[in-house]
Amino acid sequence: MMLALILLVLPVQPAHAAVNEAQNPITVGAAREGWVSDGGTWYYYVSGKAVTGWREIAGVWYYFASSGAMQTGWQQIGGKWYYFRGSGRMVTGWQEIGGAWYYFAASGRMLTGWQEISGKWYYLASSGKMVTGWQKISGKWYYFASSGKMATDWQKVSGKWYYFASSGKMVTGWKEISEKWYYFESSGAMKTGWLQEKGHWYMLKSDGSMAVAEMVGAHYFDTRGYWVNGLSPESELTLEHVLALLDFYDPDGAFLYRNTLNTVSDLAFLHGDAIIDSVRSTGMDTAVHERCHIYTFVSTPGFDNPYTGKNLDSAKRYYMGGGESIEVPLTPLFDSREMADEIPETLRTERFPVYIDTDVDSKASRQEGVYGLLDEFTAYYWGVHDTVMLEPFVDQDGEYRFNFASTYYSWAEFRYYILKYILYAKDHYPDVYQGIVDNEDFGEAFTAIDSKFRKTLQVYFDRHDMDWDMFDAFTEEMNKKEYQEVIKLLTP
Ligand SMILES: [Zn+2]
Repeated sequence: MMLALILLVLPVQPAHAAVNEAQNPITVGAAREGWVSDGGTWYYYVSGKAVTGWREIAGVWYYFASSGAMQTGWQQIGGKWYYFRGSGRMVTGWQEIGGAWYYFAASGRMLTGWQEISGKWYYLASSGKMVTGWQKISGKWYYFASSGKMATDWQKVSGKWYYFASSGKMVTGWKEISEKWYYFESSGAMKTGWLQEKGHWYMLKSDGSMAVAEMVGAHYFDTRGYWVNGLSPESELTLEHVLALLDFYDPDGAFLYRNTLNTVSDLAFLHGDAIIDSVRSTGMDTAVHERCHIYTFVSTPGFDNPYTGKNLDSAKRYYMGGGESIEVPLTPLFDSREMADEIPETLRTERFPVYIDTDVDSKASRQEGVYGLLDEFTAYYWGVHDTVMLEPFVDQDGEYRFNFASTYYSWAEFRYYILKYILYAKDHYPDVYQGIVDNEDFGEAFTAIDSKFRKTLQVYFDRHDMDWDMFDAFTEEMNKKEYQEVIKLLTP
């Protein structure tokens, strides 16, 4: 448009132009315009003046010094680095300069540090150079391919496998990847073979994944990956294997076993040919439960028989765990069946007809009153505890403990029977009531078992994302003021 205008104007004023040119050689008509080379240096003139600073010419950016000289190569301008080709063209994007790669923003500014470019991460050193290979950045190791792309996920480097988080950080220690566990040494290299950590041996197979619920060679690794020394689910059901199993998973169960050997046959309550048969079918749970009763019997002087013995001058010894027990002196009692009619229909669950409203007069839960009920509460606790501790031994196919829900329900049932017994005594047998609430050893034993039982159930519930809802009917009853008062009296 400017050119067209001048052409239109010129013929009208030819005299003026000629005069001006003659009078002054530095005039518009004779002025330098556009690119001018002077001694190998380029200048760009506009209206006869060499431009300085930034200039966009025909869609390309250039930079001119204060002298007007066009700049090339590396230039620091306003504290930022730029690069200009020999033609003066400012570069953008990826550029290989002097054998190294750099990245320049659309503004031409050289970038440094972490940069996400076209969906991939790169690291540009403070010099702007793109890094490759191993790099320690802010104390963490990263790996960059020869293309500069930051590694994530699995990468094989110099014949070893490494794993990088989505952030690019090299992983060390345990890491779960696609539902398998792996272990990475402090160097980041994936480990294979035996690994000992925090008292347990693990097997990392040739692909690096941890052995879980499987045999590797002659060795069995449970659902947590623990090596179960000398045992596998297929091990023959023998006393030696039962004790080895309990020593590994449930030392309290092993204690009850060792302290009741020769009272019943070695494999009483157990069934199957392989040790897994007894674990799966709750045989081990029952064996520990029954041996807890036997322990109470044989470790307490004055009893002739665990089920018919009734020696109210004596005491009962309840197992507390860790080899410790509490001896509780007995006080006057009434037959538990007396309170059967007072137990509401909603609370007459599975164990009500078995332990309370039963015509078997010799039942300890009846004959030994609240002390017999505490005996069951304790035995059920150790059986349930054994089941929870042994669960990692078996596979997680969901078939394990098909009737276990019924077993752990005993926590609410016996807790309730014990409290109900004391409340019944309060109304009908004041001396029985006073004897129990004044019996500090009883209160200590009941409170301890109740607390341990809850903790063990919580472990199981957490493992299976379960809640205490199933106990609602019992919880509602035992939350009543009169029960809470008894609990308070029993609490040491
Ligand atoms: Zn029992």
